Amino acid sequence: MLIYQGKSVYGGIAIGKIKIWKKANSIIKCYHVKDADKEFSRFLEAKSKAINQLTELRKQAIEKVGSESAAIFEIHAMMLEDADFLDSIENVIRNQHYNSEYAVSLCCESFVAMFSSMDDSYMKERAADVKDISERLINILNGVSFKSDEEESNLIMVAEDFSPSETLQLDKNKILAFVTAKGSLNSHTAILARMMNIPAIIGVDLCSNGLSDGKLAVVDGYSGTIYVDPDEGFLKKMQQKADEDVAKHNLLKFYKGKETITIDGKKINLYANIGNIKDIANVIDNDAEGIGLFRSEFIFLEKNTFPSEEEQFAIYKNAVETMSGKKVIIRTLDIGADKKVDYFGLKHEENPAMGLRAIRLCLKQPHIFKTQLRALMRASVYGNLSIMYPMITSVDEIKQIKDIIKETAEELKTSNIPYSIPEQGIMIETPASVMISDILAKEVSFFSIGTNDLSQYTLAIDRQNEDVDDFFNPYHEAVMRMIELTIKNGHKAGIWVGICGELASDVALTKRFLQMGIDELSVSPAAVFPIRKTVRETKL
Ligand code: PEP
Ligand code: MG
Repeated sequence: MLIYQGKSVYGGIAIGKIKIWKKANSIIKCYHVKDADKEFSRFLEAKSKAINQLTELRKQAIEKVGSESAAIFEIHAMMLEDADFLDSIENVIRNQHYNSEYAVSLCCESFVAMFSSMDDSYMKERAADVKDISERLINILNGVSFKSDEEESNLIMVAEDFSPSETLQLDKNKILAFVTAKGSLNSHTAILARMMNIPAIIGVDLCSNGLSDGKLAVVDGYSGTIYVDPDEGFLKKMQQKADEDVAKHNLLKFYKGKETITIDGKKINLYANIGNIKDIANVIDNDAEGIGLFRSEFIFLEKNTFPSEEEQFAIYKNAVETMSGKKVIIRTLDIGADKKVDYFGLKHEENPAMGLRAIRLCLKQPHIFKTQLRALMRASVYGNLSIMYPMITSVDEIKQIKDIIKETAEELKTSNIPYSIPEQGIMIETPASVMISDILAKEVSFFSIGTNDLSQYTLAIDRQNEDVDDFFNPYHEAVMRMIELTIKNGHKAGIWVGICGELASDVALTKRFLQMGIDELSVSPAAVFPIRKTVRETKL
């Protein structure tokens, strides 16, 4: 048995097979080919592989979710046989002598533009399908593919590092744990592992060759250890530990349906954080009372181009409808820093965490912001939606946002599109916003404290740099005082104050936050029961 030590990001025991993650090549290669016949055959081979994948996915989906939901795979397979689509790809390969990947991406762009401009909403939606089949073809041509057979489930994903968008691409149903060489305790990848409720370890030395594809391994997320080729006795012991975890979790289900209230009657709202519409099942399963942070930028990270207003509207509407009347706080685009997507064309920055990110980017590129606001204001007609703005540092930013909201509302009204103006709040995640929280509180309906960035900016500790993890003290008095001041100033102005950063999930801090007067905590779904238990056992 080989043993590797790293740092724990999230606890839990996982027993499965190692899968080494190979980076998807998101840059589409563009070059000229001499032999167009040969290149076209390469394309046809990729096409038939794509159809085989879709047939397999359809079979699996029929078993798991029924034939209605599986129909999409049949539609995709049919689209791959569409004569117009195939002719245009063949044309680019034969007449312009471009490689298949580039030909697919060119034709994808023009078909997407064509479908998007159609009036019929059914046809408009086909644009997303064209992108999907094109991505599948390009991945196959690039040699990136996930086998969908049984062997490929129960995986322990091992990688140098995962970017937030790569983490999102992984099929969560097949993954039991994450192990990486790089990454820091507060990175978004770590946050995602916590959100998925699976053990995760960072800082493992991957240079030694013991960690290879297909080997049986045990991940102990509590101690940050990975054991490769475990013997039978050890395996049995760890299986027992894993079973105990399940039993403990089942005991916590006692708190399902119970109020989040202290012994002496202080009630708080206990919400959950999500990054994806699929996470809502987890929110409901763990009995969160609402969604306190929907990181909407993850919708953008999962795509190769800007999500349209219709696409966003469908997601937000789905979220509020699924939560049926419970609060859903959607944070506007917080792109930038570690959350990057090529299609934004952002410049390289020396200090991206302090750069053109979040609300700054939205105010500089109001058309992107407006598309999102239109979708949010339309979706808010269908449920209890609130909007939250990230990275606020000044009152002027709020004034600019208010002007854009006003303009957007007028446009929707003129076009006779149903909308409403939802409750709006801001994230308090910069020291500047803490220091002027008395003034900001008069402008908005709520504060949600983002302790991840607030700690980063207050303590001058880059959350992406694993080398300074040891200097990070989540309980630093400076951060605690900032939280306290924000709550005090929020309450003075009569607004509610919550925490949606990772500290909200830390049971060791729950009593302190309650004493400060916190009104809401938004935590990873798996933390809902432990926090509710702690609140119910607390006497202030
Ligand atoms: C935070 O900064 O605490 C937060 C919740 O936002 P994010 O982690 O997405 O930056
Ligand atoms: Mg933040």
